Amino acid sequence: MRARRSTLQRAAAALLALALGGSQRLPLNDPAATRVTDGDQADYAEARARMVVEGIVGWGIEDPDVIAVMGRVPRHEFVPDEYLDLAYANHPLPIGYGQTISQPYIVALMTQELGVQSGDRVLEVGTGSGYQAAVLAELGAQVYTIEIIGALAETAAERLERYPNVTTRHGDGYGGWPEEAPFEAIIVTAAPDHVPPPLLSQLAIGGRLVIPVGPIGDYQELWRITRLPEDPIESVSLGGVRIVPLLRTEEVSE
Ligand code: SAH
Repeated sequence: MRARRSTLQRAAAALLALALGGSQRLPLNDPAATRVTDGDQADYAEARARMVVEGIVGWGIEDPDVIAVMGRVPRHEFVPDEYLDLAYANHPLPIGYGQTISQPYIVALMTQELGVQSGDRVLEVGTGSGYQAAVLAELGAQVYTIEIIGALAETAAERLERYPNVTTRHGDGYGGWPEEAPFEAIIVTAAPDHVPPPLLSQLAIGGRLVIPVGPIGDYQELWRITRLPEDPIESVSLGGVRIVPLLRTEEVSE
């Protein structure tokens, strides 16, 4: 046990250094960067390092690029002020309008399964807080992200301005983003009860779609669907998740 703990402590120290490096790269004129004091930034970096060691690596995420990015993106800048103290806890948090920022482990798992390479074109359906889009952007992807709730789309677009490789849109992502297709990867962060056919058709050959599918208000199954050159698709189940439902335009009041 003692050896294991010291390995974890070393990993945490390394991640802490990484995280501090990441937060120093924030633009000085970023309003979110001035929301907390320098002391708080160090606390957040430490909390983020702990989140990565315990909730990301500790829960089985292995992709080194995903682990590094989760240690770098300032998740506290994507959660409402009243939940700042829980920003690095390993569970989803409310972001208003009945929606949530996904649990860090789920963000890491979905990102790992997307297999994103730098320069890949990636579509995200369900921008929400913008956190997942930031994670994908930090991996070097060209990110196209759609959000159906106008107020969330607007806030996320402001937060994501610092990433020139992210394009945001307000609308229903069920139909994908045909003008920008094909995509090497598509991630759906809200759960439909079936796979939207337009998303499958907007996948590049060899492209991956990571999507939770299942009944509203119950557990859904997370799938990785790969479009193969010869067979139409290959589906792999990644296990059970509980994620907010995919909405359609007629279900959104504003
Ligand atoms: N990826 C987000 C998770 C947000 S939860 C994050 O990192 O914070 C899922 C989001 O999907 C919600 O914001 C919800 O409003 C949005 N959503 C639901 N149905 C949608 C649809 N049809 N098109 C686009 N966004 C949708």
